[in-house]
Amino acid sequence: MAFSVTTPIYYVNSDPHLGHAYTTVAGDALARHHRQRGEDVFFLTGTDEHGGNVARAAEAAGMPPKQFCDEVSERFRRLTTAMESSNDFFIRTTDPEHERRVQDFVQHLYHDGHLYEGTYAGLYCSSCEVFYTEGDLIQPGNLCPIHNRPVEWVEEKNWFFPLSKWAPKLLELYDANPDFVRPRARYNEARSMIAGGLEDVSFTRATVSWGIPVPWEPSQTIYVWVDALLNYRTAQEYGLGRDVTAEFWPTSLHLMAKDILRLHGIVWPAMLLAAGYEPPRGLFVHGYFTTGGEKMSKTMGNVIDPFEVIDLLGADALRFYLMREVQWGQDGDVTWEGLHRRYEGELANDLGNLVSRATAMIVRYREGRVPEGRNALEPVHESVAARLDAVDLSGALEEIWTLVRSANRYVEEQQPWVLARSDEPEQVRALDDALYTLADTVRSLGVMLYPYIPASAEKILAAVGDPGAITWERAALGTLAAGSEVRQPEPLFPRVEK
Ligand SMILES: [Zn+2]
Repeated sequence: MAFSVTTPIYYVNSDPHLGHAYTTVAGDALARHHRQRGEDVFFLTGTDEHGGNVARAAEAAGMPPKQFCDEVSERFRRLTTAMESSNDFFIRTTDPEHERRVQDFVQHLYHDGHLYEGTYAGLYCSSCEVFYTEGDLIQPGNLCPIHNRPVEWVEEKNWFFPLSKWAPKLLELYDANPDFVRPRARYNEARSMIAGGLEDVSFTRATVSWGIPVPWEPSQTIYVWVDALLNYRTAQEYGLGRDVTAEFWPTSLHLMAKDILRLHGIVWPAMLLAAGYEPPRGLFVHGYFTTGGEKMSKTMGNVIDPFEVIDLLGADALRFYLMREVQWGQDGDVTWEGLHRRYEGELANDLGNLVSRATAMIVRYREGRVPEGRNALEPVHESVAARLDAVDLSGALEEIWTLVRSANRYVEEQQPWVLARSDEPEQVRALDDALYTLADTVRSLGVMLYPYIPASAEKILAAVGDPGAITWERAALGTLAAGSEVRQPEPLFPRVEK
């Protein structure tokens, strides 16, 4: 089995923020989970570096565009590292290997007669680098729906891709794959855009010089979104130093926010069909964050900086919070208060204390060896796997947390410290079962939590004498060997001054 998952490549006209961290952790959790299922995985992220917007940002920063891209791209790369992202490749659209392949792809479409020359006159948002129809804009005033600013009337000679012609094929694709876009509301949205009629799209730009030259007309550049979408293909062709498309194409899953659904759900599969490539297997559209009910923005001064969270609480705390707090696929509110509440209430108390108590009691009552016993709790790994197969990241985490809660209830009910006072064989056996249940459950939690909080999960598995056993079959209960050596770990989630 092979699984390939992508984040969008992040646009370098601004610095990395919490939204980027969100998609990256989601992609990483899925990649790690599929690896623990024994699948071959290609997890791709990177930066999108061309276009007038980047050129303008570079100019404002007083730098040549490439130097500007190098610096900002490096900050995005640092975020993936700080978050412990396990991406297999980090693509940059200024990589010469990418640029050359984008030219080949576009040349191929041109050669096969899939592009035509025309004049584009339309309403253009220079921040989005997208032409809009009046129906897409906020009225009155023709305001960009993303930037809430007036768009401009632009006329230029372009090469066009006849998107309208691909509508029947796209509808076939959607009708044959009811999960092509998830959640369902986004599928319906994309399908009705197609059914409502598509306009042809501009494939090249005459007015933007910071881009990849059109091979047969180098005075024009390839539209930045064409260049960006193609990263998903070119990365598989050169990212690992060899072409892995035979194994990983088509992409299993593209992750994104809703602002780029039209490009990924409509333009991208049509481009691929035209070029004779298989379209992706699926897309998942996640929500946006607010904080305290407001949009996060520098001017509001309410930005939650992912680097600051990681410095204070660690990468696992950020990863856990983002996957836990907001229902996957919905918009949600994130705050520092909420982050501290989840950190203290769930990571430090529910999980950290469970691990600490389980290991401390085995050290004290059984000289640090897991006794023979039978796990008394209900397993959740099958429902967790089913949720993850449905790309329900927060739902799977909630399933895992039901086991955390039942293990904590179990300790209170069994009261191993009371059982430990007696030498009666029945009580000794009951204590063995209780201690086995706790150690084995903690171990299963370590396996299941590995995709979400990998560093902490590894510490948990080491504490119960099962280091490195993160393969998914070990998520089942009752697989911990009696006699495993247990030691009490340092606090996994130490108290932090706010
Ligand atoms: Zn805009």
